[in-house]
Amino acid sequence: MKNYIYPLLFAAVLAGCATVPYTNRHQFNIISGAEEDKMGLQAYQETLSKAKLSTDAQATAMVVRIGQRIAAAAERSDFDWQFKLIDDPKMVNAFCLPGGRVAVYTGILPVTESEEGLAVVMSHEVAHALAHHGAERMSQGELVNLGGAALQVGMANKDPAAQQKVMSAFGLGASVGVLLPFSRSHEAEADHIGLILMAKAGYDPRAAVPFWQRMEAGGGKKPPEFLSTHPSDAARIKKIQAELPEALKYYKGR
Ligand SMILES: [Zn+2]
Repeated sequence: MKNYIYPLLFAAVLAGCATVPYTNRHQFNIISGAEEDKMGLQAYQETLSKAKLSTDAQATAMVVRIGQRIAAAAERSDFDWQFKLIDDPKMVNAFCLPGGRVAVYTGILPVTESEEGLAVVMSHEVAHALAHHGAERMSQGELVNLGGAALQVGMANKDPAAQQKVMSAFGLGASVGVLLPFSRSHEAEADHIGLILMAKAGYDPRAAVPFWQRMEAGGGKKPPEFLSTHPSDAARIKKIQAELPEALKYYKGR
C-alpha cells in the first residue's frame, strides 16, 4: 500500500509546484496557466464593461507607454498585454490581471504624481501577475471561505458573486465590494520584483520610496482602495530601501 500511495502523492505535489521569477520562491499552485488566463480575461472584460475609459489622451498615452516598457522588461511575449486608463477620480487604484491585463484608475494619478511614480504602481501590479499570486491564493485556500473551488465554475457561468470572489483574488478589492488585502509576503514579493521590473524598463526604482510615503500619509480615516489591498507601513518602506541596491543594478537610466 505504502509503495503505491507515496509516488502518487509525490506526483500530486509536483503538479502543483511552481517557481516565482526573480525570487525563485517555490509556490503551490493548482490553477493551470490556461485556467488563470481565462479567469483574467473574463475579470478584465467584466471590469471594463462597467467602466468609462478616460478621454485624457496624454494620460492614456503615459499609461500605455509605461505599460509597454514594463511588458518588454517582463519578457512575457506570450501575455495578452493591455493597458487601460479608467476615468474614475474617486478610485485610488490600479491592477494587473493574469495575462498582463492592466488597468489604472485616474484617482491614483494625483498620488503617483509623475511617470516614474505611476511606473512604481504598474510594475508592482505586473509583479503580482508574473508571480501568479491570485492563483496561489486560490490554491492555498485563502479563498475557501469565499467560495473555494466553485470560483472557476462561477466564472464560466458568469455568476456575479463568484466573479467578485475571483476578482478579489486578483487584487480587485474595493472596486467589487470584497476587500481582500494581499498577504504581507505577497506584497513584499511584488515590491521586490516590481523594483527590478521598473529598473529594467528604464525607470528609477528609487521613486518607490516617496510613492509609498505619500500613500501612507494619504491613508487617513478612510484609506484609498489601493492602500486597503496594499497596506503600507514603515517596515515596508524600509524593506524597499534595502532592496534598492539590487534593483539599481538593472537601471541604466533613460
Ligand atoms: Zn500589491
